[in-house]
Amino acid sequence: MEFGWTTDQERRYADTLAAARAAFDGVPSAPGGPKPWLRLADLGLLGASVPTRYGGGGLGALDTARLLEAVGRGCPDTGLVFAASAHLFACAMPIAEFGSEELRQRLLPRMCGGELVAANAMTEAEAGSDVSRLAVTATPVDGGYLLNGTKTFVSNGPVADVYVTYATTDPQAGHLGSTGFVVDRDTPGLTPGEPFDKLGMTSCQAGTVTFEDCFVPAGNVLGEPGQGAAIFQHSMGWERTCLFALFLGLQEALVERVVAHVRQRRQFGRRLADFQAVSHRIVDMKLRLESGRLLLYRACWAMDTDEHPVLFSALSKLAVSESALASAVDAVKLLGGQGYLREGGVEAALRDAMGATIFSGTSDIQRQLVAVELGL
Ligand SMILES: Cc1cc2nc3c(=O)[nH]c(=O)nc-3n(C[C@H](O)[C@H](O)[C@H](O)COP(=O)(O)OP(=O)(O)OC[C@H]3O[C@@H](n4cnc5c(N)ncnc54)[C@H](O)[C@@H]3O)c2cc1C
Repeated sequence: MEFGWTTDQERRYADTLAAARAAFDGVPSAPGGPKPWLRLADLGLLGASVPTRYGGGGLGALDTARLLEAVGRGCPDTGLVFAASAHLFACAMPIAEFGSEELRQRLLPRMCGGELVAANAMTEAEAGSDVSRLAVTATPVDGGYLLNGTKTFVSNGPVADVYVTYATTDPQAGHLGSTGFVVDRDTPGLTPGEPFDKLGMTSCQAGTVTFEDCFVPAGNVLGEPGQGAAIFQHSMGWERTCLFALFLGLQEALVERVVAHVRQRRQFGRRLADFQAVSHRIVDMKLRLESGRLLLYRACWAMDTDEHPVLFSALSKLAVSESALASAVDAVKLLGGQGYLREGGVEAALRDAMGATIFSGTSDIQRQLVAVELGL
């Protein structure tokens, strides 16, 4: 077992962290400077795990996660980094792994370079944790399919240029009857809804996407008809494993922040750090961070070595998301009244971390996945 990083990996992490800090010092962007989305493209995030022949970074799961961890630590706008991660893992990766050569060549270089924003549209009003019976239908017609129905909670939905979505093509076949599609925003019959007013990650707009007799050519099918559920679960494997490295970076930033605060703030004639109740709270934050980190790297290792990744992905997603939420609560407490104010960003970490326990499958669903892996 080897816990060290290579020199190249060390350098990439340090360079990305420094570049992210420099690029996002003073969000929103300076006049004339590149837009935040393009700055993420410059950091290599938008296509990190996409093969280099399509304009991506060609990184494996562990290196992709480490890059995301650096950006999550250096960029204070967690919603923006989440938007990029959803674009990469739930959209670019299914296109790279299951799209036709025409789709890959047409879309991926522009998605990796920041020209296009992508959104994953799976959730429906009646299909959240259970996506085995989709109400959105895709009816075969000459040359393609007609999509009908409404998706919801689509991150990037209001602003996306391209959508990866899933619809029922064979209602009798249950979860084997869904198919994945790539749909361009300007396709007649596709209507993105207004942005939702939500608790956290506010720079990632989310909303509904409605299809009304929306014609999608057969060439825009991902994989084969009927493979939708498997393709979606594969993309969730990328999300559950790599995306949550963003929340390792967030926790690292919170630990740095509270350590600096309690070392300089004095009450009762002593530094806050001198009170054991305070220092032990930070020790618990660090313990959660490092435990989640080990599980996440282990899950990435399973992906990179083609080991069945479900058990470690679910454990890692559960640990890192719950840890981010608990540590954000602790950070607010440690900063006292300052932590409760909008300025400073610690209250935003609390709001942002809540979402992590819901998307990519709730904590209950991760526990259920682990239970199944244990044969329960
Ligand atoms: C920030 C954020 C971003 C999102 N981005 C996207 C996106 O880009 N694309 C997309 O398609 N969707 C997205 N979603 C939707 C997300 O995938 C769903 O919200 C999630 O899967 C839960 O579904 P639901 O909201 O319908 O809750 P429900 O499924 O109704 O669950 C409600 C509660 O019941 C529990 N529950 C449900 N079933 C079980 C069970 N079998 N055992 C135990 N407990 C259970 C859940 O854990 C939860 O506590 C996003 C959601 C959030 C919050």
